[in-house]
Amino acid sequence: MSEISTVKGIVLKKIEFGDTSHIVTLYTKEHGKLSAIIKGSRSSKSKMGNKVDVMNFVEVVLYRKKSREVQIISQVDLINPFPKIKENLEKLKYATAVLELLLALIPEDDVNERLFTGTVKALEKLDESEKLDANIFAKYLMFFIKEIGYEIQLQYCTECNADLRKSDSFAFKPDQGILCSECKNLYDFAEGITKEHFDLLNCLNTKNYCENFRKRAIKQIIKLLEKYLIYHIPEFKGIKSFQYY
Ligand SMILES: [Zn+2]
Repeated sequence: MSEISTVKGIVLKKIEFGDTSHIVTLYTKEHGKLSAIIKGSRSSKSKMGNKVDVMNFVEVVLYRKKSREVQIISQVDLINPFPKIKENLEKLKYATAVLELLLALIPEDDVNERLFTGTVKALEKLDESEKLDANIFAKYLMFFIKEIGYEIQLQYCTECNADLRKSDSFAFKPDQGILCSECKNLYDFAEGITKEHFDLLNCLNTKNYCENFRKRAIKQIIKLLEKYLIYHIPEFKGIKSFQYY
């Protein structure tokens, strides 16, 4: 028996299936990531095909059976298609990166309501924002890293446990985290970071969008966090949308 329910999700991927259908991958609040077929969605009479475009926030009627790999969707309602993201390359780059992280790094069926809510909020914010696209993504990346269990320690030196707030220079060691001014030269592959970077990492952990930081520093932190993820998750090869856009 299938269990029938209404679920909310973000469309991560959409492929054509057979002559008339689509298979979509959704990141949902209720069941985490799942794949489902929408039968007949490519016929001209169906109103469902366009509603499940990649990145759309949708509500669907789902027939779900745990033992089945691909579930069935019978109805789709559009909650938010994020129109401004789709018409702006910079926003699209970061929003695509958000979807990519979920596709690559979240196991199927891994339910995490906080990650779901944070993802919707990041996409809404990207859709609305005038100039904070990189900040929104940097903040999301920091949050995402924490939610998947690789939180970066910002209080103490990862080597000697010294209080980092008393340090005036730092280094970032991609397998461990942040080193204080005493330890920063211990490892050749640790990358020097400035007080500005350190303050920015702390800021990204708070509720604000860190508008006072230079865009250059924000982009450097995004690169650093990407490196950190690649180091911790060997099968992850980096964010592809950064190479396309
Ligand atoms: Zn130290």
